[in-house]
Amino acid sequence: MSVAVVLFTSDLRLHDHPPLRAALACADEVVPLFVVDEAVEAAGFGAPNRRAFLADCLRDLDAGLRERGGHLVVRKGDVADEVGRIVTGTGAGEVHMAAGVSDFAQRREERLRAALASIGCRLRVHDAVVTAVAPGAVVPSGSGKDHFAVFTPYFRRWSAEGLREPFRAPRAVRVPEEGADSAALPSRAAVTGTSPGLAEGGEAEGRRRLASWRRGGIASYEELHDDLAGDATSRLSPHLHFGTLSPVELVHRARTAGGPGADAFVRQLCWRDFHHQVLAARPAASRSDYRPRQDNWRTGGAAEDETAAWREGRTGYPVVDAAMRQLLHEGWMHNRGRLLTASFLAKTLYVDWRTGARHFLALLVDGDVANNQLNWQWVAGTGTDSRPNRVLNPVTQARRYDPDGAYVRRWVPELAGISGSALHEPWRLSAQERARYDYPEPVVGLPEGLARFKEARGLD
Ligand code: FAD
Repeated sequence: MSVAVVLFTSDLRLHDHPPLRAALACADEVVPLFVVDEAVEAAGFGAPNRRAFLADCLRDLDAGLRERGGHLVVRKGDVADEVGRIVTGTGAGEVHMAAGVSDFAQRREERLRAALASIGCRLRVHDAVVTAVAPGAVVPSGSGKDHFAVFTPYFRRWSAEGLREPFRAPRAVRVPEEGADSAALPSRAAVTGTSPGLAEGGEAEGRRRLASWRRGGIASYEELHDDLAGDATSRLSPHLHFGTLSPVELVHRARTAGGPGADAFVRQLCWRDFHHQVLAARPAASRSDYRPRQDNWRTGGAAEDETAAWREGRTGYPVVDAAMRQLLHEGWMHNRGRLLTASFLAKTLYVDWRTGARHFLALLVDGDVANNQLNWQWVAGTGTDSRPNRVLNPVTQARRYDPDGAYVRRWVPELAGISGSALHEPWRLSAQERARYDYPEPVVGLPEGLARFKEARGLD
């Protein structure tokens, strides 16, 4: 009997899974393995919201495998040690896994390759599992560059790239009886400190969401995606982060649906691949400025107090506070909210983007090194934005993207009684009226914040 191992990482699904398909094609028996890696926790990636979502995903993956005659094998410890043990215990000849992009994933792959080589086993790494188009598959022609630093030309080349057809989920998976015993599956109930409104994980849930998105949401995506209260985006980001949905399949399905909504959705999926290819080529961009601007970020007492107010959703700017409270409550935030809260921290408060990115990663269920760090850099103007000094004015943003104030009323209920445009600028109310609301004064005036930022960046 030949045996192969499939090491699941950020690809917790059975549909459209190239490593699983390849393993099933080359071996009689397959060990579907997930290692709860202590190094992930140690590196600070294991936020409670993501650990809870992960527990759902593993339970569902196990259920899907059981329907096919197999089961998931879970191990806890160091990934190279645990894979090595399974290979030795089952006599597996190959290990299949998806290519990753982060520093952490690249190092994991190198360590695994070396560990497996020493016991005569081959590591086969599959592209276009975590992204639709593999990082490095398209590069700027004739420039010698290893990645695109500008989105629009990347989008053009990415759109012209042929995608493989998505693979069906396998019918049967036979797991060896010897040498592949499993630890208990992690349980969502055992994770403490999660957000009360956290979404449910797992491939079955992801596919349900995808089906309802295709039926009801995608057609109006272009028109409504920026409407904060409308909540009219797909909310598929945690499923893409954990790989319970395949980006290749999503692009195919959206292209098949066609229309302006689907086109706009595909463009966002391309943004995801764009950030992944930047990170794969420049792993240090998770920590260091991609394009340094000689920033001397504010630190110390006042900056720390303002950052604390930002984290807690009490900056005195209702739309900023609404979005920050959504993050605390759901472990997820609308993209428009992410843009304007990040701009508020990095530009209006002029606090280091890394501080904000850390807070987001501590809460976001879709918290992802490529998407989070590079979007933060984009907003802070140290990343790939071609207009690095743009500052989003939270009042203008609120008027445009929450025109009737429904988003602010939902998340900042203490202001729900304010009618009209004063909802977005409560400091304009008379002192007597303001006294009726238990809500803070702005942590900083917008003109003051803007002047400080311009001076720091040496702008007129
Ligand atoms: P939809 O609007 O339905 O878009 C579909 C998919 O496209 C998303 O699920 C996502 O995978 C991808 N996508 C959409 N916008 C972007 C974008 N700007 N960059 C990259 N991919 C995108 N996204 C994450 O997945 N993880 C993060 O940690 C993350 N951090 C962010 C931090 C900041 C400061 C900002 C400005 C954006 C961040 N984003 C992040 C991108 C984006 O906000 C989310 O992907 C999106 O809000 C998720 O909601 P959705 O699934 O409904 O998106």
